Amino acid sequence: MYIHADSKGFVLHFVRILPGQYSVYAYEDSALCHSSLFSEARPELFSGTRTHSSDRTMDLGLAEDHFSRPVGSFVASDIEQLKLAIEECKKLILELPEHSERQKDTVVKLIHLRLKLQELKDPEEDEPNLRILLEHRFSKEKSKSVKQTCDKCSTIIWGLIQTWYTCTGCYYRCHSKCMNLITKPCVRSKVSHQSEYELSICPEIGLDRQDYRCAECRTPISLRGVPSEARQCDYTGQYYCSTCHWNDTAIVPARVIHNWEFEPRKVCRSSMRYLALMLSRPVLRLKEINPLLFNFVEELVEIRKLRQDILLMKPYFITCKEAMEARLLLQLQDRQHFVENDDMYSLQDLIDISSGRLSCSLTEIHTTFAKHIKLDCERCQAKGFVCELCKEGDILFPFDSHTSVCHDCSAVFHRDCYYDNSTTCPRCARMTERKQDDISDVKEA
Ligand SMILES: [Zn+2]
Ligand SMILES: [Zn+2]
Ligand SMILES: [Zn+2]
Ligand SMILES: [Zn+2]
Ligand SMILES: [Zn+2]
Ligand SMILES: [Zn+2]
Repeated sequence: MYIHADSKGFVLHFVRILPGQYSVYAYEDSALCHSSLFSEARPELFSGTRTHSSDRTMDLGLAEDHFSRPVGSFVASDIEQLKLAIEECKKLILELPEHSERQKDTVVKLIHLRLKLQELKDPEEDEPNLRILLEHRFSKEKSKSVKQTCDKCSTIIWGLIQTWYTCTGCYYRCHSKCMNLITKPCVRSKVSHQSEYELSICPEIGLDRQDYRCAECRTPISLRGVPSEARQCDYTGQYYCSTCHWNDTAIVPARVIHNWEFEPRKVCRSSMRYLALMLSRPVLRLKEINPLLFNFVEELVEIRKLRQDILLMKPYFITCKEAMEARLLLQLQDRQHFVENDDMYSLQDLIDISSGRLSCSLTEIHTTFAKHIKLDCERCQAKGFVCELCKEGDILFPFDSHTSVCHDCSAVFHRDCYYDNSTTCPRCARMTERKQDDISDVKEA
């Protein structure tokens, strides 16, 4: 038995009676909404339901030339012939009187022709497991039951009867038969060579400069929807056809950076994939792109302070055996850049800052880190500082809030002491003195 699901809500069961001869049963299936095979056909033609579907058995009359040859001997010209026959069938269906027997028969014939075409274009065997195309690394999918949508033709992939592939880099999914039609290179490679966001808000150039064509596949489009609907991508600002733009939504980096705005916007498929792959990459140097943000987004100031503190704590951890064993720094493994610098942000960081999530988790990590250094670990405690200016009070650490750190020798002082002493560092002064003594000793000798 051969199952094919298609048309507006119908499942077609093909039962092989004799070699080359099939009977078809049409079932209603409201869960399905696929329409690529014969959208022109009217659902009323198949009024059968599950309970009395066998009444609707139809002979396909497969005595025609197209089907008499064994599968496998078809060549390109057969594909062309099939396509022609399909077009003729479609025309005929529209011309024939509605609900007539001939029209029903023609619909069934059309279905078969299209299945045959599918079979020819989509041979199950000999499909390699890995195909490399425009820098995509397509790996053949094993799953038969999952229903996915093809990123190329935007119709459903029927795992049961169709071979399909997923790109391991960008998760582009497509029918085997659609692979040779792909024109868009893998966005994974774009992420590695061009890891900079478009930072102008929706940089539109206008449909005229796009020649009234889809920016990706060049299909003619217009805002009136004739011949095909033009959909704008808020990330690239360009217009796309409905095959390349599915009205997916994503948070757009330019709007976050300039407006601190997190409302998801409609983006095309390839922008969506690109934005998804870029989401956790720390590529935004906020203080350069929009330093004004720190003036009115308080949370950013708080996060910047926490990040600066964490960088001051890092030298303690990388020289402390206990901290290494407790894998303290690994608490930041999802945001590796937080242990490397304090000014690069990923879009995900900014989203988490605006939702308050990052502040919570980072404060928690900050507390754990400080507790290790100041309370739990003797080795780290021993690396604290006594304020050399007043020589009083508790042991100081550079990340304590009431301290100042000498930029030259990293000595730590009470902030008040440091400013009272006009920000000169006694330790540096001592070292300069010693150096001068050494030089004069050398001269005397
Ligand atoms: Zn497809
Ligand atoms: Zn890819
Ligand atoms: Zn397109
Ligand atoms: Zn320690
Ligand atoms: Zn002091
Ligand atoms: Zn100093």
